[in-house]
This record gives sequence, structure tokens and C-alpha cells, in this order.
Amino acid sequence: MSTEKNNPVDHKMIKELLDEKKSKMKLSLAACASCSLCAESCFMFNIYDQKPEYMPSYKVIKSLGVLYRKQGKVSRQTLEKMGDLVWKNCVLCGRCYCAVGIDIPEMLAFTRMICRSQGVDGVYPHNLGAPPAECEALGSEN
Ligand code: SF4
Ligand code: SF4
Repeated sequence: MSTEKNNPVDHKMIKELLDEKKSKMKLSLAACASCSLCAESCFMFNIYDQKPEYMPSYKVIKSLGVLYRKQGKVSRQTLEKMGDLVWKNCVLCGRCYCAVGIDIPEMLAFTRMICRSQGVDGVYPHNLGAPPAECEALGSEN
């Protein structure tokens, strides 16, 4: 797999990766009823003032949904924006609850893998802040 950030996006590789999970992922994307119930269970959505870009369904639709719609033919800039959604806006904690059983973390993890295949790595949400003092104290005991 290419990991060179300056290489052209390998659309064929992305399409092949998408095809590996096409049935399940397309079914999940189609099943989303946009009910927003999953948002309530996402702590990122709640701590970031319930901004739409932190909503689990939004993160999936604007990343993996776009990849399938465009059959992998996306620019590097688009992949980098997706990288923000699936890394910076999500910690893959697995807590999002979907009313119809869609496995959102699996879809976001799959999108990360596709981004990585093109040398797009994520930035983790370090701006969640410093750990509480009691955690620091525990750390210094070990
Ligand atoms: S896996 Fe991501 S989208 Fe789901 S609850 Fe955790 S941070 Fe939110
Ligand atoms: S709970 Fe499930 S169906 Fe509803 S918006 Fe979230 S992912 Fe879509």
C-alpha cells in the first residue's frame, strides 16, 4: 500500500477496498433513517456543543457515504477533510447506539483504513484537554 502523502490518490485502490465491504456498508448507509438518536450517545457530540459535524451519522455519511457515492474518486483534500471527521471528531469509543443496529464505529474504522491507504493519517482529539489532576497523581505513583 502507498503511504506517500504527495502521491496522486490511487482511486483504483480505494474502489477495491470499498468493494471488499460493499454489501454491508451500502446496506448500513441506506438503512440510516437520519433519526439522530445516535447523537445522544456520543460524548464528542455533547462536549462540542452538539455541533452536527460530531454527530455519528454525519461523520459516516460525509466520509464513507461520499466514498461510495463517488466510487472512490475523491481528491486528497477531500480525504483530508474525511480524516478530520473520522479521527479528530471520533475516538472510536464504540458507545454510539443506533436504533436500527448500524455499526457506526466499524464504518468509521473502515474509513480510517481507506484514508491511511492514501497516506492520510488522522489527528487525534488532543484538544479534549489535560487529564484531571487525580489522573496525573495516579500516573506519578506508577
Ligand atoms: S465511536 Fe465515535 S461516533 Fe461513536 S460514540 Fe464514540 S466518539 Fe462518538
Ligand atoms: S441512530 Fe442509526 S438510523 Fe438513526 S441517525 Fe444514527 S445511524 Fe442513522
